[in-house]
Amino acid sequence: MINVAIDGPAGAGKSTIAKAVSKELGYIYVDTGALYRTIALAAIRAGVIDNDEGVVDLLDGISVELKHIDGVQVVTLDGEDVSALIRTPEISMGASRVSAIPKVREFLLDLQRDIAAKNDVIMDGRDIATVVLPNADVKIFLTASAECRARRRYKELIEKGEDVTYQDVLDDVNERDYNDSHRDIAPLKPSESSIIADTSDLELEQSIRKIVDIIKEKI
Ligand code: C5P
Repeated sequence: MINVAIDGPAGAGKSTIAKAVSKELGYIYVDTGALYRTIALAAIRAGVIDNDEGVVDLLDGISVELKHIDGVQVVTLDGEDVSALIRTPEISMGASRVSAIPKVREFLLDLQRDIAAKNDVIMDGRDIATVVLPNADVKIFLTASAECRARRRYKELIEKGEDVTYQDVLDDVNERDYNDSHRDIAPLKPSESSIIADTSDLELEQSIRKIVDIIKEKI
């Protein structure tokens, strides 16, 4: 099986780029952020999002699954398709919180490794090259400046009809970057063998070509 790891900060374009690249190469696209988002949703519903012990207690009683239907990833929480529900700024922040809890990361580890063992995948996350798939065939760290990422995410949210300001989005990006790169467990950082790809000055199509080229060169 071919495993491609794509890590990087929020809003670097990982999901859009990885989706397009996996389609072109015929791999399955796995968005691991959706798993952390689903745990955040469960924690918010249970009223324990601010309480790490409460989140950990929750894990025993929930079931999270990833499926691919016609090439599109679906994530379920206790059988309910929550794929659309987890795309809000509140859940983004919640995911950043719960992802710093070691037991949460442990809980999601086998699920991620299992998919990669059975399929050619492009897996997008924060710790795929460093923790989840250290033996991935290709490891890419996709990044862009905070302002550039905030601008892109702001545009996306406005198009979806969310009521946000650019400053809110930039603050969120900076806060999540800080949380993700300063946590003790699996902090966001390139692995030693990751290829760094900066997309700040690239159009989407150029970024896609760059990533396809990196992968083709390696395999
Ligand atoms: O990629 P996405 O923005 O959906 O991820 C939501 C949050 O989940 C991130 O801010 C990060 O804290 C966490 N995450 C993680 N490890 C991953 C994927 C996501 O810690 N592999």
